Amino acid sequence: MKQALPPGLSAAQMDRALKDFAQVVGNDWVLATDLDRDTYLDHFAVDEAAHAPSAAVAPLAAEQVQEILRVANRHKVPLWPISRGKNFGYGGAAPLLKGSVVLDLSRMKKIEFDAENGVALLEPGVGFYDLYDHIQQHKLPYWTSVPGNSWGSVIGNALDRGVGYTTYGQHTEKLCGMEVVLPSGELVRTGMGAMSGSPTWNLYRYGFGPSWEQMFVQSNFGVVTRAGVWLMPAPESMIGLDLELENADDLGWAVDLIAGMRRDGLLQQSPSIGSWLRGAAVLTTRKEWYDKPGALPDDVIAAIRKRFNIGWWSISLRLYGYEAVNEAAAGVIQAQFAKQTKQPMTVTRWKQGMPMNPAPGQAAFAGIPVTFPLANAAWHGGRGGHLGYSPVLPANGRAAMEQFRRTYDRYREFGMDYHGSFAMGERSIVNVNQVLFNKDDRDMMSRVNGFFRALVNDATQQRYGEYRTHIDYMDLVAGTYDFNHNALRRTNETIKDALDPNGILAPGKSGIWPKRYRNLRK
Ligand SMILES: Cc1cc2nc3c(=O)[nH]c(=O)nc-3n(C[C@H](O)[C@H](O)[C@H](O)COP(=O)(O)OP(=O)(O)OC[C@H]3O[C@@H](n4cnc5c(N)ncnc54)[C@H](O)[C@@H]3O)c2cc1C
Repeated sequence: MKQALPPGLSAAQMDRALKDFAQVVGNDWVLATDLDRDTYLDHFAVDEAAHAPSAAVAPLAAEQVQEILRVANRHKVPLWPISRGKNFGYGGAAPLLKGSVVLDLSRMKKIEFDAENGVALLEPGVGFYDLYDHIQQHKLPYWTSVPGNSWGSVIGNALDRGVGYTTYGQHTEKLCGMEVVLPSGELVRTGMGAMSGSPTWNLYRYGFGPSWEQMFVQSNFGVVTRAGVWLMPAPESMIGLDLELENADDLGWAVDLIAGMRRDGLLQQSPSIGSWLRGAAVLTTRKEWYDKPGALPDDVIAAIRKRFNIGWWSISLRLYGYEAVNEAAAGVIQAQFAKQTKQPMTVTRWKQGMPMNPAPGQAAFAGIPVTFPLANAAWHGGRGGHLGYSPVLPANGRAAMEQFRRTYDRYREFGMDYHGSFAMGERSIVNVNQVLFNKDDRDMMSRVNGFFRALVNDATQQRYGEYRTHIDYMDLVAGTYDFNHNALRRTNETIKDALDPNGILAPGKSGIWPKRYRNLRK
């Protein structure tokens, strides 16, 4: 990709900035060839060129990050921080503002492990595989929690409120104590870390006075250079309870049942109720089933389900901890499900001392990193990708069923294959959809934008907001948070202008535009 420039900056100005970045990190770590730029494109994006970076700069330490921010201020160059940049479905490594310089933190890979407290103090370049390997090599009695695509960064994922599948699956909630470089280049530590040398930096979240940690999550207020992450103590036992639901309408009672178990704490993990395409799109391609455009007809769906022996929905519940407690909880859960369905649950048991060799589809439940779900990008053939659509609903069966029906109709209207799941939180559900597409199918691609906007509009009518979105749609989604004429966005932008008067850090991220670029809001 040829060099794109951010608005208002000439090639000569960019060149001078890149030379100054090289003074900080060395020539090898300013990446500005066409090939370099290609590696930072969002290959899942509908329009890759719309988010093309001008270059990337890759520091090795927080001091270099500070210096890079100072250089960026001097030259008024916008930066886009990434930890490992594997945010597929939401933007990959690419910046929202075309021509930004990607601040690639993937070389920062230090791990400090507090084995007594089960806390890892990580730099942003530490991937899920790195942390998992560290734990294995040092025989530490802890488990990681990993996302379905574990290629990314532990910190990067948590900073986008990513999720995993054990009881520690709400990753942003397991962050404790951050070190952050502000847009000015100033280094701050949050919570107890504000007291130099405090032994409780990564143990107690709040410190004294206002607590700022979530301020740096899904935001453009600072670059996180280190963060504490709490890890799950290796459990004595893990029990799996899997159930296939025959009918689409079974979603309603299943959500009500699980919502109750999440509220009263019987179930500590956040299970995801996924539709039949979740497995099929990873294990097969569409043309093995059907070769016509439009949403898959019911008889094809039935054939897929038969081949994989799966329901319309699949539920996987997991219990972790002491064996006796897990057995008791499993008994109560099975008894509650038995009141609703004759279908028995498939029970799997693992305990310490047994070999741990889960099938790929089960690995994430044991905190073992996986990448095989990335295969679903090949479902339609061609250059595949997907767009994440994930509104938050109240945790009840009626809301879930209505959302499912509404969304399913939209998929059919736009001729797309339904790929939705319902992730059960303690008081809410995230309805995660992966809108799968083939970038080489022009007709399909011409429908994606209208489809996505219709989905967001439908959710907004119900007053449901999205928990996370692709860089293409950050203004759209931020605009739906409209209480008192978008008072929260004004608050965010007041803070943005105070911390980042030159507007150099991730302009437009989460709909937050600095004064200098505010006219670019879509
Ligand atoms: C098939 C498939 C399955 C997936 N399954 C899951 C899943 O189960 N759960 C899930 O959560 N995600 C999932 N994803 C989405 C995504 O791949 C992961 O969330 C991935 O971990 C994100 O990439 P990353 O960790 O490298 O973060 P990055 O891409 O590095 O960063 C994510 C965001 O945080 C910001 N950021 C990163 N680092 C910093 C920093 N140090 N300071 C300030 N801001 C920063 C970035 O600007 C970016 O907006 C899936 C994707 C695919 C394709």
